[in-house]
Amino acid sequence: MECDTLVIGAGIMGLSTAYYMKKRDPSKKIVVIDKYSGPAQGNSAKSEGGFRNIFTSETNYLLADSSIDYFFHMEELGHKLKMESIGYLWLFSEEQYEKIRPAVEGLKERGVELEVYNREEIEAKVPSLMTDFGDDEEAEMLGLKNVDYGVYGRKCGSLDADALVRAYEAEFLKLGGEVKYNTEATELIVKPEMELEIPGEPFVWQEKVISGVKTSDDEITAGTTVVACGVWAHQLMDPVGLDSFQRPKKRQLFAFKDPKLEPVMRTEGLNHENALPLIVLPTAGIFLKAELSEGSIWLGCADTFPRKFELEEDPQAEDDYYTNNIYHALVMYFGEFEDVRPMNSWAGQYAINSFDETPVIYGEKGFVYVGCGSGSGIMKGDAIGRVADALCAGEAEVELHGGRKLSVAKLGIKNRAVEHEEFVI
Ligand SMILES: Cc1cc2nc3c(=O)[nH]c(=O)nc-3n(C[C@H](O)[C@H](O)[C@H](O)COP(=O)(O)OP(=O)(O)OC[C@H]3O[C@@H](n4cnc5c(N)ncnc54)[C@H](O)[C@@H]3O)c2cc1C
Repeated sequence: MECDTLVIGAGIMGLSTAYYMKKRDPSKKIVVIDKYSGPAQGNSAKSEGGFRNIFTSETNYLLADSSIDYFFHMEELGHKLKMESIGYLWLFSEEQYEKIRPAVEGLKERGVELEVYNREEIEAKVPSLMTDFGDDEEAEMLGLKNVDYGVYGRKCGSLDADALVRAYEAEFLKLGGEVKYNTEATELIVKPEMELEIPGEPFVWQEKVISGVKTSDDEITAGTTVVACGVWAHQLMDPVGLDSFQRPKKRQLFAFKDPKLEPVMRTEGLNHENALPLIVLPTAGIFLKAELSEGSIWLGCADTFPRKFELEEDPQAEDDYYTNNIYHALVMYFGEFEDVRPMNSWAGQYAINSFDETPVIYGEKGFVYVGCGSGSGIMKGDAIGRVADALCAGEAEVELHGGRKLSVAKLGIKNRAVEHEEFVI
C-alpha cells in the first residue's frame, strides 16, 4: 500500500491528528492503522474521561482550554460525548495550599474560572466529606491531611472518551480518510533520501528518511509516517534511534454503585446537577467523580512513587490495591464507603514524560511523533491533533479552536519551551 500519510495508532492523538490532516487537504490519501480491532482500544477508552482547564503551565492550559471548547462544539454538531460540567474540586491542607497559593493566584490572573473555598464552605457543599480529623489517632497513624481549602474549577468535568475518539474517526471517515484495524506496525522503514540501489543502504554518509512501515500484513509506503502509539511508541522508535520520551506506568480505576453511596453522590451548589465533581483528596492523590450516565462513582489513585515503569500489554486492576490499600484512607474521608466493594475495575497505562508532564510533538524526515499524554491526553486531544498537523504542514504556528495561537516548536524537543506544571494527577 502507498499513501501520503500513515498514522500508526487509532487513539485520541492519532485520530485527531489524522482528522486535521485530512481536513487541511482532502485530496491526500491518509490512512490510520491500529493493532486492535477498533478505535480507542489502547488507553484512550480506559481513561477516566476527566477534563479540566486548571493547569498552571500556560501551554497545558491552552491545549486543554481550547480542546474543551471544541468538544462542546462537537456536541453541538451532534456527537454525543456526554460532556458533564461537574467541575474539579482539588482539596488541600493548609500547608499544601500555602505551597500552591502563588500558582492559584496566577490562574486567577489569567482569568481561569475557579473558586477557592475554605473549610466551612466545603463542608456545606460536600456534606458527607470529613474535613477535620482532630485528634483521631487512626487518622494520625495513616498520615491523613485535613481539608482546609478547595480549588474548584468550573470549566472542568467528565466526558465519554470512547465516544470522543469515535467522533474524530467518524469525521475523518466522512472526509474520505481510511482506517485499517487488526494491523500491527512491526518496524519503521529507513531509506536513503537518494537511493543508489547498492546493497547495505542506507550508509552513514547518506541522508536518511522514514519511508513507511512493515506491518503484520504487508509493507506500507508513506510520504509521512506519524507514530501515535501511546505507551507502545518506543517499540517502533527505539530500534531506529528515535526517542519517544515516555515511559508507561499502570493506572487503575474502580467503579462503585451502591445505595449507601448516595450521600457521597450529592453535593450542594457546586454544579447544576448537584453531583459529585471530580474530587482530589489531600492525601495520596485519591480522586473520585460521579459518572452520571451510569449513576456510579469512579475512583482512582495517583500512585506515582513507588509504582514501577513497565509496559504491560493487558494491565489488570489489582483487587487488593483497593481493599487493602486505598480503602483505609478513603473510608476516613467518606465513611459511606465502609464495606462497599467495587462493582467493576480496570487498568490502563499513562505514557509519562516525567520531565514536564506535557505532550511531545516533533518531526524528523518523513516522520512525526505525537505522544506523552502523561495522564491528560484526552482533555488536550483536539489541540494536540492540530499541532501535529501544523508540524507536518511545516507551519511554525498553529491556530487552536477559538483563534488562539501556539508556537509548534514549543512542544518539540530542540526548542522546547513549556512551563512547569503544578496540577498533576
Ligand atoms: C486509567 C487512566 C485514566 C486516565 N484518565 C484520564 C483523564 O481523566 N483525562 C485525560 O485527559 N486523560 C486521561 N488518561 C490519559 C489518556 O487516556 C491518554 O493520555 C490518552 O488516551 C493517550 O492517547 P494516545 O492516542 O496517545 O494513546 P492510545 O489511546 O493508547 O492509542 C495508541 C494506539 O496505538 C496503537 N498501537 C500501538 N502500537 C502499535 C503498533 N505497533 N501498530 C499498530 N498500532 C499500534 C494501540 O493499539 C492504541 O490504540 C487516563 C489514562 C488511564 C490509563
